[in-house]
Amino acid sequence: MEFSVGVGLTNACDLACAHCYRDVDRIDQLTHAQVLSVCDCLPVRSINLGTGENGLHPDYAAIVGSLAARGVKLSLTSNGYTVEHSPDETLRAFREIEVSIDFPIESEQDAFRGAGNWKRVMASIEPKGSWMRRSSGTQRVTGSSSASRPRSRSCMTATAVSVLVIDP
Ligand code: SF4
Repeated sequence: MEFSVGVGLTNACDLACAHCYRDVDRIDQLTHAQVLSVCDCLPVRSINLGTGENGLHPDYAAIVGSLAARGVKLSLTSNGYTVEHSPDETLRAFREIEVSIDFPIESEQDAFRGAGNWKRVMASIEPKGSWMRRSSGTQRVTGSSSASRPRSRSCMTATAVSVLVIDP
């Protein structure tokens, strides 16, 4: 049996969403060695990097590189920050990248997540340099929110979560 593992490299985040369950009183981080030890102890097939924003971990890129070198299938969940701050080489290591979208229009999303979040998220799901040129990326919607239906092309992904499938 192989395992799919959820990992948060850090609970640090640049946002402070009201619905978040992370501990905001302190910053906890896994070490590079701790993450790799999971793969040493378990037959890990895939890992999702989730809450908080993994790009705020100082060893984020190195850890992603190490896991990819081991053949672990990687996915990332982000509010857009980590995608924005990741070099193409790191992004190419992920098979899926999820960005959180809670509302179908900018004003509602920004009121919920913070000013500028909509633009960041939209930028993160646009074709991104060599990363997307290399990929056969498609977008698919994997969740739905109680928000009203999308009203424009850029809102096609405006449900709870959209996923970029990299090299499916
Ligand atoms: S973006 Fe995610 S991790 Fe950051 S505060 Fe919001 S819910 Fe929490």
